[in-house]
Amino acid sequence: MNHSALTCPQCQSQKIVKNGSIHNKKPKYKCTECGRQFVEHPRQIYISEDTQNFIKKLLLEKISLAGIARVTGVSRIITTE
Ligand SMILES: [Zn+2]
Repeated sequence: MNHSALTCPQCQSQKIVKNGSIHNKKPKYKCTECGRQFVEHPRQIYISEDTQNFIKKLLLEKISLAGIARVTGVSRIITTE
């Protein structure tokens, strides 16, 4: 079992091979199922719907994204919309 299994962002396959690295030495990966190449974004967090709703409320209060990031601990705001 590979405890740090990567998942293809396109087809969700875990048949991922390392495929060199990009300019800043970050490893680059390739999905052997669909051929999609991607780099890992360890700081990118997919936040829950609850957190998204919370962030939307904060946005309505005119709180800056930087402030929201501090409050929620989400360094990069990603919504599914
Ligand atoms: Zn794939």
